[in-house]
Amino acid sequence: FLSRFCDQRIIPPNNPQRKRPIRKAIPPCFPRSPILYSVRSSVEESMVDLRIGLGYDIHRLEEPGEKIVLGGVEIPYHKHWVAHSDGDILIHAVIDALFGALGERDIGSHFPDKDPRYKGADSRRLLVETMKCVGQRGFEVVNIDTTVIMEEPKIGPYVDEIKSSLSPLLGIPQERVSVKAKTNEKIGEVGENRASQAYAVVLLRSKL
Ligand code: MG
Repeated sequence: FLSRFCDQRIIPPNNPQRKRPIRKAIPPCFPRSPILYSVRSSVEESMVDLRIGLGYDIHRLEEPGEKIVLGGVEIPYHKHWVAHSDGDILIHAVIDALFGALGERDIGSHFPDKDPRYKGADSRRLLVETMKCVGQRGFEVVNIDTTVIMEEPKIGPYVDEIKSSLSPLLGIPQERVSVKAKTNEKIGEVGENRASQAYAVVLLRSKL
């Protein structure tokens, strides 16, 4: 609408080149003023290239175990996540979201689970590698929002620690890292505590 409106202002009403009829009803909030051109061009010039990405991960939970690692934070538990790396579903979801925002496929294509280099790997190391990729493409993280879904153990007491673990890895302050914890209301494999899930959304912007 703004584009059409501005086009009509470019050609004076009495100019024979004008092909479109003059719009008679002009909304009062759009005064007849050339300032519209400068507003539009300054908006376009100041536009930042934003990219959004969605990530998801799930791992089976099996006994026995001593701890799980979530967002780089160790949480004592009697089960473990069945995974090639440390099974950190939260970081894996964040990595998938970052690659998704870059249009770069998924975590498995960058860090294959058949590669012995990643056996038992600390997922924070994979996140550092992913962030190098983000920087090389000329982007930086604006914020992330995540949800972890698991019946046990309770994640609430560890949320602040997880946020302070992720924040330096992503290069953003803690208030831009959101970690939400839910249960699956005892429904399905997650609700029966046989698996855990995580979702992540990230927003990237081009570096100035
Ligand atoms: Mg995973």
